[in-house]
Amino acid sequence: MTIGSIIGEPLSIHKLVSSKREKVDRVVDLLNEVGLRPDLLNRYPHEFSGGQRQRIGIARAIALKPEFIVCDEPVSALDVSIQAQVINLLSDLQKKFKLTYLFIAHDLKVVEYISNRVAVMYLGEIVELARSEDIYRDPKHPYTQALLSAIPVPDPKAKKQRIILKGDVPSPIHPPPGCPFHTRCHYKIVDRCKTEHPELRELAPGHWASCHLAE
Ligand code: SF4
Repeated sequence: MTIGSIIGEPLSIHKLVSSKREKVDRVVDLLNEVGLRPDLLNRYPHEFSGGQRQRIGIARAIALKPEFIVCDEPVSALDVSIQAQVINLLSDLQKKFKLTYLFIAHDLKVVEYISNRVAVMYLGEIVELARSEDIYRDPKHPYTQALLSAIPVPDPKAKKQRIILKGDVPSPIHPPPGCPFHTRCHYKIVDRCKTEHPELRELAPGHWASCHLAE
């Protein structure tokens, strides 16, 4: 399919345009919104770079004027400079259309830049949830602490205490009993960690963590 057809198809399916002309006009608007030239309308995806293809995907995602978009690893396959362009585009569209994103990523600097609230997951469970600035300033869960300690610091003289987690990630299908993190936790764990699943508790206003010893 040409990118014009790809972006225009949801408009036809949901009967949001009444003529071919109206559909083309709307696709042209969407291409402009994501920074692509409208004359590219009849080109095919393989003719575009990775960053441009991501813009095409974003145009299709906003075509139906959603309130909520799930962005699953939207920049992980892109070069760093292109990542910045796509993230800035997502931020601009978020403000313009008052969008809410669920942004799934492994790059913690990208997460910090784009997120208002951050949920950290381990073996399919949320182990910590807080406002972005709180989680990066004061991580409560040992898994979050280990993740944040791995962020590279762009200063060769900076001293950083890296927390290295031992052992492999257990199978999410057969998670360990008690706290799912107890086989790799760097805290001095207690018996309770091996038998009792920690609840997600609010340790400070809006800051939740599931760890028996998080205080
Ligand atoms: S509950 Fe125990 S094992 Fe789990 S994260 Fe907290 S200290 Fe570590």
